[in-house]
Amino acid sequence: MMGHSHALSGVVGWMAVVPLVQGMEFPGLSFDLGPGEIVAGSLVCAGAALLPDLDHKSATVTKTYGKVTETLGGMLGFLFGGHRMGTHSFFFAILVGVLVQLLALWSELAVQIFVFLLIGIALQGLGFGLDKNRVASGIINAMVTGGITLALFTAGVNYSWLGLAVAFGVVLHFFGDMITKMGVPIFWPFYKKRFGQDKGFVTDGPVEQKLVTPLLTIGVIVGTVYLFDWPSLLPEY
Ligand SMILES: [Zn+2]
Repeated sequence: MMGHSHALSGVVGWMAVVPLVQGMEFPGLSFDLGPGEIVAGSLVCAGAALLPDLDHKSATVTKTYGKVTETLGGMLGFLFGGHRMGTHSFFFAILVGVLVQLLALWSELAVQIFVFLLIGIALQGLGFGLDKNRVASGIINAMVTGGITLALFTAGVNYSWLGLAVAFGVVLHFFGDMITKMGVPIFWPFYKKRFGQDKGFVTDGPVEQKLVTPLLTIGVIVGTVYLFDWPSLLPEY
């Protein structure tokens, strides 16, 4: 799928699991998901759903932070065996999830910076860039991303679920690729077969444009209406 479809699948995916995990408690992890956690998780999942394509030079995610993401992408491509190899495996999803969870245990500031970077990627993927003016687009994206991150921080969002949300977003990316003609070696490096190869629809073809992307958009709308307790959130008049 295209970057924006992957990003949308992250938003819809998070919204879909919120009612399932709501209220669950584990040691060091609580799913007490209020409006802040729903918004934060949606954007984190959207950003994470773009991460596997860091192994591709011209992917949205690789271009997001210029030389920084390009260098990171180059390193990942090298370490994980090229495009759509190791970064498209459960091994990668678990690895990234564990690293992010460790980051969350280590420092609250690191969490805020990581969330900021991921939301920037999410917004870029969702298409909030003005292609005609890259500098202005970059600055506006940074301002909006900073504003959202700060608002979530001020709202006291609890990020104990951060690693899981990132791993989940990464896994959603695999399904996005598998339902197009692209195969994904989900059991890499143990078993390198690409699942879903040559089955499914063409990337950015009519099915994606006219069916998948609109359905995902409807999913976002339904989730937004259903998940938030609107009467208590809106100002009284
Ligand atoms: Zn991919």
